[in-house]
Amino acid sequence: MILAAGVALAAVTGSMTPAPSRPKLVVVITVDQLRPDYLNRWKTQLTGGLGQLLTEGAVFTDGYQDHAITETAPGHSTILSGLWPAHTGIMRNSQGVQDSLAPLIGTSGPGASPRRFRGTTLVDWLKASDPKARALSVSRKDRGAILPIGQAKEQVYWYQSGIFTTSRYYSDTLPAWVQSFNARHLAFQAANTTWTLLLPDSAYKEEDNEPWENGGHDVVFPHRLPADSVRAAAAIIGVPAMDSLTLLFVLEGFEALRLGRKGTDILAVSLSTTDAIGHAFGPDSREIHDQVLRLDRYLAWFLKRVTDRVGRDNLVVVLTADHGVTSLPERTRAKTGAPAYRVQLDTLIGAVNHDLDRLAGAAGAAGTSREWLGFDTGMLFLQDNGRFAAVGVKTDSVLDALTTRILRVQGVARIIKPADLARADTASDPIARRWLHQLSPDAGVVLTVTLQPGSIWDPGSSLIAMHGQPSDDDAHVPIIFWGRGINRGTYAGRMNTVDIAPTLGVLLGVTPLSLIDGRARTDALAPRD
Ligand SMILES: [Zn+2]
Repeated sequence: MILAAGVALAAVTGSMTPAPSRPKLVVVITVDQLRPDYLNRWKTQLTGGLGQLLTEGAVFTDGYQDHAITETAPGHSTILSGLWPAHTGIMRNSQGVQDSLAPLIGTSGPGASPRRFRGTTLVDWLKASDPKARALSVSRKDRGAILPIGQAKEQVYWYQSGIFTTSRYYSDTLPAWVQSFNARHLAFQAANTTWTLLLPDSAYKEEDNEPWENGGHDVVFPHRLPADSVRAAAAIIGVPAMDSLTLLFVLEGFEALRLGRKGTDILAVSLSTTDAIGHAFGPDSREIHDQVLRLDRYLAWFLKRVTDRVGRDNLVVVLTADHGVTSLPERTRAKTGAPAYRVQLDTLIGAVNHDLDRLAGAAGAAGTSREWLGFDTGMLFLQDNGRFAAVGVKTDSVLDALTTRILRVQGVARIIKPADLARADTASDPIARRWLHQLSPDAGVVLTVTLQPGSIWDPGSSLIAMHGQPSDDDAHVPIIFWGRGINRGTYAGRMNTVDIAPTLGVLLGVTPLSLIDGRARTDALAPRD
C-alpha cells in the first residue's frame, strides 16, 4: 500500500507543470447514497443540474468508493484526501467525528471535530501554495461537512435542530451571515407542508403503495410534515426540502465570503436527503425517484447561481457520492424470490463472551463480564492482552469455532482474516481488495464478515434499507467532473473516489503534502492552454 501510494505521488508530481492560471472555484458535491444507476434509470427526466453534468461533463462510469465499510464517514473522508479509510483512520460512522471536547455553538447536540482524521486534503495542498485560498464545507450531517476537508480549520457548517452551526474546533461564534440565515427560521416554517410528486403520476413507473416502505406507515404521496414547528424542523431531514435548504445556505455563504472572486477557493457541499429517503423507502421506490428529480432541479438553480457569479471558465464541479445502497431485503424476497436477509450476530457473539466469562469465573480471574470480542459492521475486534491465556483459551481456537458458527448464519457469504489480505488477488477479488483498503493495521480487527449480495446488517431499530457492505450495490458511485480543463465524454475503467483529489490537484497545479493512495485521472483533462 505504502509503495503504491509513493508511486502515485511520484506520478502526480512528475506530471506537474505550473498552470498559467487556476480555476477560481472548485465545487465538490457529494450526494449521500446516490447510486449511479439512478442517473441512467431516469435520464430522460433529468433536465436540470444532474442532466447538465451528465451531458457536458466527464462521466466516469466505473466509479467506486472502493473500500469495505461503505458508510457516510469513511466515504466522505476519501473524496478530497486521496486516501483509503485504512489511512484516514475514519473506518466507520460510529468512530467518525464524535468529539465531546468540541461542543456545538448556539444549540445542543453531539460535539464533532476531525480529530480522528489522519492525512491532508486538497484544501491543505491548495493553501500550501496559496495561503489566501479558503474553503466552505456544508452538509446536513456533521460528518458530511467535516470529513471532506480533513483537519483544515475553515468555514464548516452542518444542520442541527433547525439551524446551521459549527463546533468549537472551528470557532467560538457563528459569523453574521450564519446568524442571519438561522434567524429566518426557515426549517420551522416547513410545518404542515407537504411533499408531492414533481411530475404527473404517469412519469413514475414505481408502485407507490409498497408495504415494506418506511416501516409500513405513511407509504404513499403526499407526505406531510408535522404541524408543530419544532417537530417539522426535525422531520425536514427526511424530505427533499432539506437539500434545497442546504443549498440555499451554501449560496448565502458563497456570497458572504465572496468565494471564487480572487484566488482559488473550494466549496464542498454534501446533500443528505437522498440517503434519508433511500433508507426509509428503498432504492426502488417512487419516493427516491421523486427525490432525484427534485435534486436535479435544485442543482440546476444552484449551479446557475454559481456559474453566473464566477463565470464558467473559472469553475470546476465534481459530483460524487459517499456510498450506494442495497434494496430492502423484504422487497427483494417478495419481488425476486432471491434469498436476502437482515443479519445480526449480536446473540452469537454475546454467547461467546458469556462462555468466556464463565471460564474466567471458574479460573478465578478477576473482573468477569468483560467484552472479550466486539463486533461492528462486519468487523470482529479482539483485544488479547494475555487474558485469553489466563483462562486457558487459545484465541485461534475461539476464532476458528466462531468462524464455523458465523458461516452457518443465513446471509453470510465470507469470512476473511486481515492477515490473509496481503496474499489476496486484489484484481479479481473486489471484496478482498475493499477490505484491504478498509482496515488500518492498528484497528484490532481479527476477522471480517461479508454478507451475500442483497443481505444487510440489521440496524435493529426499524426496517430500513442499508448500505455498508463491500458489494457493488453499496460501493458503486457516480464520479463526474465538469468545467474548466475537463474533456466531456464517457470514461470507462475503474476510477476510485481516492483519485478525485489528485486529479483536481493536477487541474489546480498543486501537489499532495503527504503520501496518498489515489492517482490522477489525466485522460479526462484537456491539455493546458
Ligand atoms: Zn446512510
